[in-house]
Amino acid sequence: MFGSRAARAVALGATLAIVAFAAFRRLRAAPPAPLFGYAAASSAPGVSWEQKFRALPQADNIRANMQYLSAEPHNAGTPRQHVLALWVMHQLQADGFSAHLEEYQTLYPTPLVRQVELVAPSHYEAKLQEPPIPQDPTSGQAGQMPTVNMYAVDGDVTAPLVYVNYGLPGDYAELAKLGISVRGKIVIARYGGSWRGIKPKLAHQHGALGCLIYSDPRDDGYYQGDPYPNGAYRPQWGVQRGSVMEMELYPGDPETPGWGSVPGAKRLPLSQVPNLEKIPVQPLAWGDALPLLRALGGPVAPPSWRGALPITYHVGPGPAVVHLQEKSNWGLANLYDVVGTIRGSEHPNQWIVRGNHLDAWVNGADDPLSGQSSLVEEARAFGVLLRQGWRPKRTIVYCAWDGEEPGIIGSTEFSETHAAELQKDAVAYFNTDTSGRGYLQLGGSQTLQHFLNLVAQDITDPQSGTSVWLKAEQHRLAAATTPAAKAAVMDGGDLRVAALGSGSDFSPFLQHLGIAAADLSYGGEGGNGVYHSAYDDFYWYTHFGDTTFVYERALAQTVGTAVMRLADADVLPFQFTGFADNLQRYERQIEGEYQAQAGAPAFDFAPLRQAIGSLHQAAVGYDRTMAADAANGSLFAIPAAQRNALNHLLYTSERTLLSPRGLPRRPWYQHQIYAPGLFTGYGVKTLPGVREAIEQKDYATAAQEEQVLVGVLNAFTRQVEAAQSKL
Ligand SMILES: [Zn+2]
Repeated sequence: MFGSRAARAVALGATLAIVAFAAFRRLRAAPPAPLFGYAAASSAPGVSWEQKFRALPQADNIRANMQYLSAEPHNAGTPRQHVLALWVMHQLQADGFSAHLEEYQTLYPTPLVRQVELVAPSHYEAKLQEPPIPQDPTSGQAGQMPTVNMYAVDGDVTAPLVYVNYGLPGDYAELAKLGISVRGKIVIARYGGSWRGIKPKLAHQHGALGCLIYSDPRDDGYYQGDPYPNGAYRPQWGVQRGSVMEMELYPGDPETPGWGSVPGAKRLPLSQVPNLEKIPVQPLAWGDALPLLRALGGPVAPPSWRGALPITYHVGPGPAVVHLQEKSNWGLANLYDVVGTIRGSEHPNQWIVRGNHLDAWVNGADDPLSGQSSLVEEARAFGVLLRQGWRPKRTIVYCAWDGEEPGIIGSTEFSETHAAELQKDAVAYFNTDTSGRGYLQLGGSQTLQHFLNLVAQDITDPQSGTSVWLKAEQHRLAAATTPAAKAAVMDGGDLRVAALGSGSDFSPFLQHLGIAAADLSYGGEGGNGVYHSAYDDFYWYTHFGDTTFVYERALAQTVGTAVMRLADADVLPFQFTGFADNLQRYERQIEGEYQAQAGAPAFDFAPLRQAIGSLHQAAVGYDRTMAADAANGSLFAIPAAQRNALNHLLYTSERTLLSPRGLPRRPWYQHQIYAPGLFTGYGVKTLPGVREAIEQKDYATAAQEEQVLVGVLNAFTRQVEAAQSKL
């Protein structure tokens, strides 16, 4: 979320020649007219329907959607959120979808008491409030979710304070060097460097009794740019709310791990829930953190630990003593997912699923409504096409998820409830969440890498008039600071699709069910300083986000094109060489990590290298044959039953990457290629079983995990070979 605009600007001038070359290469490499995976006879109407589709989304409509949806606070479990779910459902119905709400119940702590006070050497009572901003008409509304870090246990503790920088493993190593322990203390960490839930988790493991997390203006505030409302950045009293549920164990309702929390479902008793933070946690604005940090003594903080507050940063412990009290009502909340379908005309049991969450911490114009407002406009455009006679060959499922902010709950419960149908029928899942102004950002399953690149080449960038693909490549080249990095941007023709960790609703589809997923957004050219605050609202977005909504329109065009192109393909355009290429890079990274570990016992990477090598060979074989057969038309002359079998092998290929036993210590995460890190939270760990064991120097586990990984890679290779046998 935090930008690096300066770095991009520096590199831009130096890369113009390379960019020009890239544009030239892209023109020459541009695919000929037929859509990839389409027979000539279906490509022409497909192109025509796509062009009609892309002309339909209107910036003003997306703006109006956002204005309505963000008019009041609508966090999960509130009556307003239910009203909005009904509104989205009615929109989908008006657009020709068959739409309904699905109700789930979830453990949902409603805050009753929140208190942070400095009790020595002086007294300060933290405000824990975001005041209204006069220019911003919704910033002072009633019904705002208090500033909380949800799913930490209740507690009432008083202890000396210690500053732990970002509160990550390296920071505790630094504290140990200073001879400082946090045992029996309250820690204060700054946001950044990891997913927030990692900070209290590590603090607890080191014996701390409580955890405060504040937004330092160096990372998130006036050091980055003018604070709101003069600029986009976090003001003195802006607070980042957020869940600290240990989603790296499993997301969703904490009391129903692995099964759907439909009303009446069996539930773990609260005392047996394993993924709550074990100490009380409270987020702070820098306005509330400053008096606490100023009261710290002890050694001066290491240079890299110092933020942008006007104080000398000390580590403590004490003489600052803090009283932290948190108490919630641990009841249930009702969640409402919106699910709308357009039934496929030829393959109704093959689903293209597309979702974005609808719940927000407060008004949530950027997060999640920038994505949701585009989703609603995509659906409207599909409604227009339906009235003009278009019928998708595969079933299209549009979803608005509830309860994403507290813990990816609505999409997880939906995925768990419908696991069998989804694993049988889902072809792919397309996710969006926050989106703004800038360049296209691609995350997802790398079996969709080539497909997503082709889609991006057909979307016009609203500013430059070139394709959003070209703009994304220019950005990546500008951001690459070494010749090797620049070459890596351009080596394979396709822009790499980033591996996905967690942090939004793709996680249950990809990592629990093995459904190929993509996460798409625009961004990088606006500031973002209101994340999860009451100031993430319509006033902020229309002054500092995508103010003209043209990138919102581009988002609707991009995702809608991907959905309909996949829905209508004769042969699904999965490709595997890019995936194999990324696997080779990940394996080399892990070997590099191992080689840097002094005194490590011998470890045999050969089985893994071999498995990836075989997969690469099968991938190249399939991709080349498929592309050649598509070009000469023989791909589309095979009998229908054989083509159906081929498509089934293609869209279930991602399922073979699951291991039913899951990852060590977290069986919910079954995908063996992509997972959120156990110690980094949202941040992805690729080949996570082996990588995390090597990182932890647990070579016995690494060897076991290598066997599991080799097993799923071999299963994937056999699936690709089976697909080739259908050509
Ligand atoms: Zn979001």
